[in-house]
Amino acid sequence: MSLYPDSYYAASLDKSKTSSSTLNEEHSCDLCVIGGGFTGLSTAIESAKKGLNVILLEQNIIGWGASGRNGGQIWNDVAWGIDVIEKKYGESLAMKMWNISQSAVDLIDERIAEFEINCDKRNGGIHAATSAKKMKEYENDSIYKRNKYGYEQLEILDRKEVSVEIGSKLYYGGILDRGAGHLHPLKYCLGLMEAAQKLGVQCFENSCVVKINQHSSGIEVLTKQGKIKSKKIAVCCNAYLDGLELGIENKIMPCETYIVCTEPLDEAIQNTILPNNYCVSDTNFDLNYYRLSSSKRMIFGGAVGYSLKNVEGLKKRTKRQLDKVYPQLVNHKIEYIWGGLIAITVNRVPDIGMLNDNIYYAHGFSGHGVAFTGIAGKIISEGIVNGKTSELEAFEKIKHKNFPGGRLFRMPLLVTISAMQRMMDVFNV
Ligand SMILES: Cc1cc2nc3c(=O)[nH]c(=O)nc-3n(C[C@H](O)[C@H](O)[C@H](O)COP(=O)(O)OP(=O)(O)OC[C@H]3O[C@@H](n4cnc5c(N)ncnc54)[C@H](O)[C@@H]3O)c2cc1C
Repeated sequence: MSLYPDSYYAASLDKSKTSSSTLNEEHSCDLCVIGGGFTGLSTAIESAKKGLNVILLEQNIIGWGASGRNGGQIWNDVAWGIDVIEKKYGESLAMKMWNISQSAVDLIDERIAEFEINCDKRNGGIHAATSAKKMKEYENDSIYKRNKYGYEQLEILDRKEVSVEIGSKLYYGGILDRGAGHLHPLKYCLGLMEAAQKLGVQCFENSCVVKINQHSSGIEVLTKQGKIKSKKIAVCCNAYLDGLELGIENKIMPCETYIVCTEPLDEAIQNTILPNNYCVSDTNFDLNYYRLSSSKRMIFGGAVGYSLKNVEGLKKRTKRQLDKVYPQLVNHKIEYIWGGLIAITVNRVPDIGMLNDNIYYAHGFSGHGVAFTGIAGKIISEGIVNGKTSELEAFEKIKHKNFPGGRLFRMPLLVTISAMQRMMDVFNV
């Protein structure tokens, strides 16, 4: 069993995590959820609330995957852009997706309140533009979202305003989204785990699913030491999905992204860096995303890598990106560095659906999973209990291609594309 990576999040939990047992016998249930991250926990919570008998299986410990490691940034919209969905699929589907993405953001606040989760949630985020061209695109996008979708939370910041809000002179301007926000993801994830358990969900850790057998009477889920007989299953493994041979693996591409966390900022500069405690995501292809922790450390993510073997190189690259944004932090010590896997889809829209009446899945959140995973779990759960819903039908309409190259070659292809994009960033294209 793997423990949490050596992250700031694991080091700053308010209380130690309660451990769950390993599945080593046979159980039966209405729903077996595979994967103990935000998606699996959300599915389990919603299904238990609807009266189902739910068992959740996690191969390591709950929150071990991306849900316990991410930047904690909460954004609405899908990574593809709602305007692109509108052009390709029409206004009605785009409006549906927009509303789903907005409910995803709201659901976080609802759950924090309902389950009294203490996870350092703060409101507000800035999209920062690294070129004049990107700033113009942002401006057009925010006007479009206000006019078309009635989204009133966006404020355009000019170069001077953005430099005051962020404390960096790097940017050409930005968009403040008052509906965005950030939280401590591992505290949130463990809060969801406790909520699920209180609702009667049985969680088993160190219980890796190795095989799924479908029978006319239901589904058999096998771990190395135990077995679950379930009427339905929900596959919530996201980027860590591997080896279950369900035919959905090639719809997503796992990519590694890294975060560095500094020592607490010197008091003298604390008020000049993110004075309103917003999170920031900028327009580099590798996407710098950063924010302050509640203890005033800089949590800065960016470098994307394809092998955890080069941790030292990635640490240096992420630190270089941090120094470029904040030269005033150059002497601050990096106290933690960790990485994790995100799953992207070809079109950057999450892939949420059902393989048949008994197998549901959600993955490919493409960097927007902190918010989207919660609503994905809710959508799956409603499908499991009520049959195909209009939300599931909406996701079904958005077709997902397999990554070209299959399992062996999809990664080298992405590396080549990423290298080209990075070059464009360097030349500010
Ligand atoms: C470093 C990093 C930074 C990020 N920053 C942000 C951000 O700021 N904002 C944002 O919106 N998104 C961000 N993301 C993405 C976000 O974290 C994910 O989209 C989200 O957490 C996915 O949740 P999940 O529950 O679907 O998957 P995960 O949290 O990865 O959970 C899947 C779980 O399934 C388990 N599993 C896999 N296979 C099996 C099996 N066979 N049997 C049992 N269990 C299994 C895994 O162990 C894992 O715990 C980031 C991701 C990373 C890695």
